Amino acid sequence: MIHGPCGVDNKTCPCMKKGSCSKHFPKTFQAETILDEFGFTVYKRRDDGRYVIKNGKKLDNRNVVPYNMKLLKKYQAHINVEWCNKSNMIKYLFKYVTKGSDRTKCYFETSTQTMNRSNSENNAPRNEIQEYIDARFLSTCEAFWRAYEFDIHYRLPSVERLTVHLPNMNFVRYKKGTDLSALVNSPAAKKTMLTEWFEGNKKHTSAHNLTYCDFPKEWTWDSSARHWRPRTPSEKIGRIYYVSPTAGELYYLRMLLMIVKGACSYADVRTFNGVTYSTFKEACEARGLLDSDNEWHLLFDEAILSANSYQLRQLFVTVLCFAQ
Ligand SMILES: [Zn+2]
Repeated sequence: MIHGPCGVDNKTCPCMKKGSCSKHFPKTFQAETILDEFGFTVYKRRDDGRYVIKNGKKLDNRNVVPYNMKLLKKYQAHINVEWCNKSNMIKYLFKYVTKGSDRTKCYFETSTQTMNRSNSENNAPRNEIQEYIDARFLSTCEAFWRAYEFDIHYRLPSVERLTVHLPNMNFVRYKKGTDLSALVNSPAAKKTMLTEWFEGNKKHTSAHNLTYCDFPKEWTWDSSARHWRPRTPSEKIGRIYYVSPTAGELYYLRMLLMIVKGACSYADVRTFNGVTYSTFKEACEARGLLDSDNEWHLLFDEAILSANSYQLRQLFVTVLCFAQ
């Protein structure tokens, strides 16, 4: 697995483009394997004086192509192996999947002779658009897959993202140029998944066995009509948007929404054993959610389901630094 000789030693080597090696050989000696600023691997290449002779030229560690000895011996073939990489390498696995099919633009030409003949027979102008084809390549296995209408991709289970906000603090989306005062006064701007969960609970006692998170299992959110309507139970799960533990009342509201069932208003969420507390935090305390570090256990129990180790460490540091 030696690259070259190329460069000044062999200007006609296939790797040569515009007078230099397109694969950037020979590389430089390198004490340790590192990732450079662009995320590419720069392999360790010992400056140990060892070399091989190829086509009469000395080639050393700077000309070695990354390889795996076991694979080379087993398959007796040139096999280029790169195994040093970082997590964003995953984009190579998925980026190309979502890139779409290989395509080509091609066009069909009639030879001058046949064209002259057809012109004399038929004076219709050439339809150049018709002659021009935007074609895509399908391999036999992909053609088979699509002909049988197998799934190209799917996700399970589907997730409904649930909004969380303090009273009248919801986000409102609007188009550029919208009359803002009319928008603010429109009832639709005040209807959110959360407020409509309250409304749903007011109208349907059957909904009272579900927390806000579990609501999407039996109810579906109609985003144009802005209300929940019953559905056949499904595997759909709800996830409330992340709220930082330093957000105060919003954070405690979210904590309550994970367990409270059948609430018809914000006040209901703050109510426990017949007492309506003045803040969400007090309601959390009354329910024992904040006893002996319990709130932090709940926080990490939830985070561990979806956060990666880096995010968990960030969260831990956030809790230590900002959440007394
Ligand atoms: Zn080269």
